[in-house]
Amino acid sequence: MFILEKWVRPRVLKMKPYSSARDEFSGEAQVFLDANENPFGAIPNDAPYNRYPHPLQPELKQRISEVLGFLPATIFLGNGSDEAIDLLMRIGCEPNQDEIMIMPPTYGMYAVSAEINSVAIREVPLLPDYQLNVPEILAQIQPNTKIIFLCSPNNPTGNRLHESDILQVLQGFDGVVVIDEAYIDFSTQASWAGKLPDFPNLVILRTFSKAWGMAALRLGMALASPALIQFFNKVKSPYNINVLTQAYALDALQHYAKLQERVAFIIQEREKLQASLLALPTVQAVYPTDANFILVKIQNAPQVYAYLLQKGIVVRNRSNVMLCQDCLRITVGTPEENSVLVKALQSYN
Ligand SMILES: *Cc1c(COP(=O)(O)O)cnc(C)c1O
Repeated sequence: MFILEKWVRPRVLKMKPYSSARDEFSGEAQVFLDANENPFGAIPNDAPYNRYPHPLQPELKQRISEVLGFLPATIFLGNGSDEAIDLLMRIGCEPNQDEIMIMPPTYGMYAVSAEINSVAIREVPLLPDYQLNVPEILAQIQPNTKIIFLCSPNNPTGNRLHESDILQVLQGFDGVVVIDEAYIDFSTQASWAGKLPDFPNLVILRTFSKAWGMAALRLGMALASPALIQFFNKVKSPYNINVLTQAYALDALQHYAKLQERVAFIIQEREKLQASLLALPTVQAVYPTDANFILVKIQNAPQVYAYLLQKGIVVRNRSNVMLCQDCLRITVGTPEENSVLVKALQSYN
């Protein structure tokens, strides 16, 4: 059974969080002289950015709740979902003692974040069909395994993980199971967000960087039980989401239909691009994808990668990655960009 107070690092459990001026006073007032802010606006034209933002972003969480259906108390907002990955490790993993488990080939930040935090990494590779090796995952769990990272749809392979496999991991592990749903908008798979009340050890990662088109604004989410979200709030830096990002996201959330339209278009382009790639004689496999990118197995991938670069086209060379020999990961672009890529590949020999 998952017991939150046992999972959290003892120091984090006991520590007193930073208390900002706005934590101590949050009511209406006429004169705010409590936070050492500049009474004038931002240089040069006094733009209204001189006050610190609210540490917990209640207005944005409320809007997310209305549009996406997650309860505000189950939401942590981070400077990208990468911040949530890092904080999760700092909440649950004692440096030089605890470990996490990842399933390569997968998103690189889980391992990087672990290294930075002096947390050991246990790898249980995906099976050749890029699905979870559930018996091996369960067998490899140690007393000091604190977090298991699952990514569905998975980066860089593009496939979604079987729901029944994820369920077995969730039920068979006393620590936190993270399901990174960065690409869920491009998938036919349902989100696990609806299952949050059933699993106190479940954390779901979402991002505004992909389907929402806001990678430059740095906004990501962790969804979890309100009790676990409290620990995110306890350890995060006080003003982690800036006012410009909050204002932009507040407005963007009013246009959910636009997102759906955009996602449908990208999926259409994805299908066309898959067909074009499959028709190339040097392409050995176009893997099924539930994301906005396609993993392609192609003869002499490193040479093809270099050839494309020299034509000014950058794709991701994954040919050195476990289970991805001779693979390139190609993001679905605009129709024009995709056509430039396909034409370049057609004239490669
Ligand atoms: C792109 C991506 C993210 C997004 O990270 P942000 O910090 O929110 O931009 C998260 N997880 C995976 C698997 C990704 O590919």
